[in-house]
This record gives sequence, structure tokens and C-alpha cells, in this order.
Amino acid sequence: MKPENSTPLSFVSTEPSSPWATYLSQVDRVVPYLGTYARWVETLKRPKRALIVDVPIEMDDGSVRHFEGYRVQHNLSRGPGKGGVRYHPDVTLEEVMALSAWMTVKTAAVGLPFGGAKGGIRLDPKELSRKELERVTRRYTSEIGFIIGPQRDIPAPDVNTNAQVMAWMMDTYSMNTGATATGVVTGKPIHLGGSLGRVKATGRGVFITGREAARRIGLPLEGARIAVQGMGNVGGTAADLFVQAGGRLVAMQDHTGTVYNPDGFEMKSTLDLIRREGGVAAHPKGEKIDNESFWDVDCDILIPAALEGQITPERANRIKAKLVLEGANGPTLPSADDVLRERNILVVPDVICNAGGVTVSYFEWVQDFSSFFWTEDEINQRLDKIMVDALNHIWETADRHQITLRTGTFAVACERILIAREERGLYP
Ligand code: NAD
Repeated sequence: MKPENSTPLSFVSTEPSSPWATYLSQVDRVVPYLGTYARWVETLKRPKRALIVDVPIEMDDGSVRHFEGYRVQHNLSRGPGKGGVRYHPDVTLEEVMALSAWMTVKTAAVGLPFGGAKGGIRLDPKELSRKELERVTRRYTSEIGFIIGPQRDIPAPDVNTNAQVMAWMMDTYSMNTGATATGVVTGKPIHLGGSLGRVKATGRGVFITGREAARRIGLPLEGARIAVQGMGNVGGTAADLFVQAGGRLVAMQDHTGTVYNPDGFEMKSTLDLIRREGGVAAHPKGEKIDNESFWDVDCDILIPAALEGQITPERANRIKAKLVLEGANGPTLPSADDVLRERNILVVPDVICNAGGVTVSYFEWVQDFSSFFWTEDEINQRLDKIMVDALNHIWETADRHQITLRTGTFAVACERILIAREERGLYP
């Protein structure tokens, strides 16, 4: 078989720090470890399908506004597409492509029978009323309706979308197809086919992989100092579980600012304050420090759980932690990965670290099909086992090839994807 040939994609930028460029560089790094499957690697470097939709809605004042929406299905070799929908003013097609590709890697790394997809709308939800948000969600769902479905592509919440948005998506899809289809999205409200444990699953997965990594490098959780960027769903839950395990949350940063307390923040009052005040900046027990100083904080475990591209080589040189747990997607630039490796700082990469959410999404999808629901204990136990088994396998692969956990995760996942691609063959 001759190697695949391809022309560069015309619709991506060449900006080296873009999320898509980060993803491509991660794929390039894994090629030497893919054996004969490396000949199919071009498959991973382009999305299968990228849909751009116009989302016009009537605003409350009677005017009409158009928003730009996307749904990208990066790879469906191993099963239906799976991935969240992000509402953010900075969302771009290229960002959604990268996020969809990381979903392909993530579902394969954990062994879930899904491909990778992602969606988004360029909007600031803070500028929209609840009714406007509902209209934009329903119109977007209708526009992407012909490529999603319980057996085709199953959206879920991501930044600025939640169970209510999923309920509107499920209802719209069901109205358009004429039958209630709970399995078309995950992350739904519990009484609409949602799963217990889903809301906290991503943060719980960060904790589980972090606990295992800490054990392997001899870092006790009792007394471990934790710093978290992004105290939302993922970062807030992970911080809470680490504190329950004996850790101390010493620094937090979110869109409102950065606070530091070497004695540790008390979790219940902190989470209450974030809900009440909308951010960490108002914390009365924390010293306010400037945002850049967050990266200099003395800590043992650093959890970036906000945005992409946060750990630059310059910041990587200042980080004091022994362990970095990537709750966010794509928080570390490839050049910063090299710095962290040289400095012997272990990174548990996003593609395994934050896979707890999609794992419980998988449980939700399975429960919806069987219309039989599990207890929260069953869900948390199954999540723990799947995450620990996946991490162990990745660790062995990384040890065998003497590569980072990120390249190890890509090696495990990309081989699974490319085996599926080879076994299915090329149509026609
Ligand atoms: P969220 O909206 O609940 O929380 C986001 C947090 O990031 C908030 O605390 C916000 O203040 C903070 N933030 C925003 N802008 C910031 C800035 N400029 N500087 C510092 N902090 C900033 O979102 P989430 O669901 O917790 O998602 C966080 C990250 O985790 C995202 O990268 C997302 O893609 C990823 N992720 C989420 C899930 C999930 O199930 N929710 C699953 C996998 C990955």
C-alpha cells in the first residue's frame, strides 16, 4: 500500500500557537510509535466533516441577529461522534476542529465506542436573555439536525452550556424527528434521561487520574498544595475532591482575578462564594495577587481548568508544581510540554485527565437506550475503574517507549483509531 497523499487544508491558519496547530504537532509526535498504522495518519489530520451554520434569531426587542455556529465531526471510525457545544464570543471553526480532534483521541484513549465531534456558537451568553438563548439553541439544533442523532453524533455541554441547553436541544431534535430521542444529547437534566454523577464527572476524573499519578510519583495527597485556574464545573469539583482527600487549595484564578492563601481555602464557603459573587476575586480569606503571579505560586499540584494555550514555555519555566493535571482542553503549548518534561514536571494530559465527563456521558447514553438507570455509587465506581485501567495502560505504553504521558495517550488512542480505519477499509 502506498502512503497517503494530501493537500494542506485551505481553511486553517498557520498560526503556530493555534489549538489546531497544537493538535497537529501532538499527532506528529506520535507517528514514530504507530508502527505500520502510521500509514493512515493523514486521516487524523483533517476533520471528516465540518459544518458552518447561520443561526438567525429574533431578539427580545424585535430585531433579528445572526450568529455563526459550527459542528465538526473529526472522526467516526470507532462509533458515533461525541463532543460538547461551546457558547463563547471567541469560538472559531479552527478551535472547534481542534476540540473535535481531541475528542476523537479522548474517546479512543478511554476505550469508549465513539468518534470525536464538537460544536459551538460565536456568542456571549451574558448578552442574551434566557428566551434569546433558548431561541438560538433551538435554531442551532435544527440547523445541525441532519448530522446529529443518537447513532450519528451526540452533543453534550461545554463552556457556557448546561443541562438546560441540552434539554432544549433534545426537545428540538425530538420535535423535528417526531419522537422523543433522549439519547441525542448527554448532560441532560436527571428527569429527562440524564445520569447521576454526570455534572461532577469531569472534575472527578481529574481527581482520579491525579490521585493515581501522585501515588506513582510518591506525592502524598495529605497536605498537597493545590493551585487551580478556572474554578468552574471542572476545576471546582476537582479542587473539592483533592481537599476531601487531605489536600490544601492554596491558589485560585478565574476570569475575575487571582487569590492566594498558603493555609488553604475552606471549600464549602469558597464554592458558595463563587456561586453567589460570580468569581473568586471577592474571597475575603485570600490575598489578591496579579494574574501572572499565579504561575509562580508554591504548590505541588497545578490544575489548569479554564482555557486553551495557558501554559506557555515562559510560564512552564516558572511553575513550581510536581504534577500538572489538565482539566481544560489544550492548556499546554507543545513547546511548553518540552520545558515541563525537561524540568521533570509530570503532566497528565487533557486527553485522559478530563475524560471522566465523556465517560459518564457514555453511561448516560447507554442508560437512555436501555431505559434503566444506575445509582450514583455504581456510576462513580465504574468511572473509577475505567479511568484507572486506561491510565495504567497509557503509563505502561509511555514507560515502554520512554515518552511523555501525552504522547503515550496519543499512541494508545491513535492506534485504536487507525486499526478501526484499516479494518473498515476505504469507501468506495
Ligand atoms: P465553566 O464555565 O464551568 O468554568 C470555566 C472557568 O474558567 C470559570 O471559573 C471561569 O471564570 C474561568 N475562566 C474563564 N476565563 C478565564 C480566564 N481568562 N482566566 C482564568 N480563568 C478563566 O467550564 P468547565 O465546564 O469547568 O470547563 C473548563 C474547561 O474544562 C474547558 O476547557 C472545557 O473544555 C474543559 N472540559 C470540560 C468538561 C465538562 O464536562 N464540563 C469536560 C472536558 C473538558
